[in-house]
Parts: sequence; structure tokens; C-alpha cells
Amino acid sequence: MDIINNVKGTHDVFLDENNAYEMVESMMKSIAELYGYNGVRPPVLEYSQVFSRGVGESSDIVRKEMYTFLDKGGRELTLRPEFTAGIMRLVIQNKLYATNELPLKLYYNGPVFRYERPQLGRYRQFNQFGVESIGNNSPINDVEVIVLAYTILCSLGLEGVTLKINTLGDDVSRDNYRKALKEYFAKHIGNMCEDCKSRYELNPLRILDCKVSEDRPIIDKAPKIGDYLSEQSKLRFEDVKDALDTLQIPYEVDDGLVRGLDYYSETVFEFHYKSKTGANYGAIGAGGHYGKLMQELGGPEMPGVGFSFGIERIVSVLKDDSLLEDTKSSLDAYIMPLGSESLLFAEEVAVLLRNSGGYRVDLCFDKTKISNMFKRATNKGAKFGIIIGEDEINNESVILKKLDTQEQFTVKVDDLVNKLDELYDMEEGNK
Ligand code: AMP
Repeated sequence: MDIINNVKGTHDVFLDENNAYEMVESMMKSIAELYGYNGVRPPVLEYSQVFSRGVGESSDIVRKEMYTFLDKGGRELTLRPEFTAGIMRLVIQNKLYATNELPLKLYYNGPVFRYERPQLGRYRQFNQFGVESIGNNSPINDVEVIVLAYTILCSLGLEGVTLKINTLGDDVSRDNYRKALKEYFAKHIGNMCEDCKSRYELNPLRILDCKVSEDRPIIDKAPKIGDYLSEQSKLRFEDVKDALDTLQIPYEVDDGLVRGLDYYSETVFEFHYKSKTGANYGAIGAGGHYGKLMQELGGPEMPGVGFSFGIERIVSVLKDDSLLEDTKSSLDAYIMPLGSESLLFAEEVAVLLRNSGGYRVDLCFDKTKISNMFKRATNKGAKFGIIIGEDEINNESVILKKLDTQEQFTVKVDDLVNKLDELYDMEEGNK
């Protein structure tokens, strides 16, 4: 029979790569906790309106990338294409803004779905880790979120991350800017791509995101948001830059950065990183401030700021830069029973070491040569080999072998946990 492959644009994560995902996600979670964040788990399925109203009708995501379907009860549902809108729905529905101190600081982690063209660093199901800080409008709150993201990337070992920032200004700034863009593109739009044509009608700001190379020279000469900012938005952006300077976070201002989601206002940012292979995976993380999202979803007037990391892209750059060595699977001990009659005794020893000693232990279930068993122990990254033959069973003991130095000890099973503790302590002492 034919085998069945995974769905186009999805990918399997297994073994050492799974360890890498877990390491990255737990590092992100523990640093977010240092900054006072708590976890949330919104459902993967939401009513489509959460995203059409939240992310915005003019965004590429809503226009063409959502996995939307009718369920058996005729409800129009969407697999979340991002977390922020769903989290706002969760916050509004559960009135978290009324029962908790503000800003409400939430982190999330899980899969998201976008019907995009699969390519390097771009999947149809991928994983995001991110945070939302809701209910405080201070530019310093924007900066705290940026510092958190930057700290996470540095803690993962990525040196020389590029942080790009920009401001989209307040409503007045953006309205003026949209008018200016409409006026400018009016003369050019006839010669631009089909996407730009519909963006021109829906939201001309989106045109700045166009990747079609023939359109770029026109886009590069378009008016810049900086010339249309209200006094208040200008000052707010100055405060953001001053705070980043004070906190010694390096950044570049990129006045073409507009982000692909409609809810952003004021500060927006992206993180880029060139790994040693030079592969271009796109931004490894991005985010910004949103002034009106809560209202768009029927909640109170309350701003927020957040970011989202793409876990796939981060694992890819860490792999390229050999920063995942510590995440390889390893064992404390590999047990080698000599003959099938030793297998149950070996299992007893394994259970004892795991349950009483907290050691990671595996054992050989096959009947194979001892030299093969040693090879397996090495392949599994074991520190110790434990050999069990007939004599050992009769004496209730095992042969414990330190695989790097080849030192060998005969140890009573009752003393085995203590002996391993002692050998690990000695090793710690020698470091
Ligand atoms: P966004 O929600 O579009 O702001 O994206 C946030 C982050 O998610 C990006 O910076 C990427 O790291 C990651 N990302 C976005 N789209 C994809 C995708 N199709 N495949 C993998 N990662 C993605």
C-alpha cells in the first residue's frame, strides 16, 4: 500500500530537533516569567470574525491565508493564523482586564496556520512563542517588551541580532500618511502587481510590504511615515528610542517597516539574524503596539504591545550556528543484559535508577554481542554502561563502567544509586 505523507507546508519535528524546540520554548517561557508574564492557552479554533475584525480585512492573512471552514453545525471557524486577536478575545470574554493588575502580561506558545507558499523558513503550520502586555500606554512598556524579546535571543546564544524599529503613529498620523500614499501611488498603480492594486483600494500602507522586485523602485521613493507623524507620535517614538539607548539595546530605524497586520499603531519592530550559512529565513520575530484592537473586538478602549517569535526560524539559525549541541539526547546509563534471562533483572535495575535516583536510563532489549551494546551506549550518549550477567544476578550486583575513562566497579544493586551519586559528585568536584 502507498504510504501517506504529511500535508504540504507542514513538517514533522522529532528526536534531537524536538529537544531543540523544547529547549528554545522553555528558555523563552522562563525569561518571560522573569519579566512577570503568565501563560495562556487560547483554543486553536476561533470564530473567523475574531481574525477578520482583529487582524483586519486588508491584511494578507485575512485576505488569502486563513484556514477557514464551516463545521458540522454550520459555524464559520478559522484555525488561528496568529495569537494576538484570539488572546484579546480571551481577555475580553473573561474580563481579565477588570480582575487583574494592569498591564496584564501574558505569554503563549503553540501552532499557527497560514496558507502561504511554502519555502525556506515559511510553513503552513508553524509555531509561535510570544507575549502581550495589555492595558498600559507608556512607551517604556513598548520598550520593556522589546528588551524581553532581545534578552531571549541573546540568552539563546544569538550574537549580533538586528532590531529594526519604526513608528506607524497614531490614527491621525496614519490617516494623513494613507492619503499621501494614495496620492503618490495613483500615478503608478496601473503598472504595479495585482496585489498592490487591491492593497491600494483596501489599505495603501500594505503596498510598502510588497516583495515584487519590479515594484520596489516605485515603493522605495514613496513618502515616508516620519513626515506625517503627529507631534504626540513623534515624541512617543523619541521616548522609545531614548529608552532603548539608555538600556543599551542596539537598533536601526527602518522607515519602510509597516508589518503585515492591520492592528498595529505607534511602535513596530522586527528581529533579523544572519546565521553562518547566510540562509535567509526572514524575520525571526516581530511585534508592535496596538491601540484599538481591544475595541475592534468589542472590548474596552485599552492599548497593548506584544511580539511573536517564529520557533522554526529560530531553531534553524541556532542549528546553522551550531548552538544546539547541548540539546542532543543523552543518558546517564545504558544497561546491557548478557542473555535474555538477565532482561527482567536489568529492567528492575533500570526502574530503581529512574525512580529512586532520577537517572535517565535505557536498556538493551535485543540479544546481541556486547560490542554492539557498547556501540549503542555511545550512540545514545550514555555516561555509564551497566553490565548484568549470570554472576551479577546471583550476587544481586552489577558491573558499572564509566564509558569515557573505562573505569569499572562491581556494585551491589542496593548501593547503585549511591555509587552513581558519588561518581557524579566527584566529577562535579573535578570541574
Ligand atoms: P507575524 O505574526 O506575521 O508578525 O510573524 C511573527 C513571526 O512568526 C515572524 O517573525 C516569523 O519568525 C514567524 N513566521 C511568520 N510566518 C511564518 C511562516 N509561514 N512560517 C514560519 N514562520 C513564520
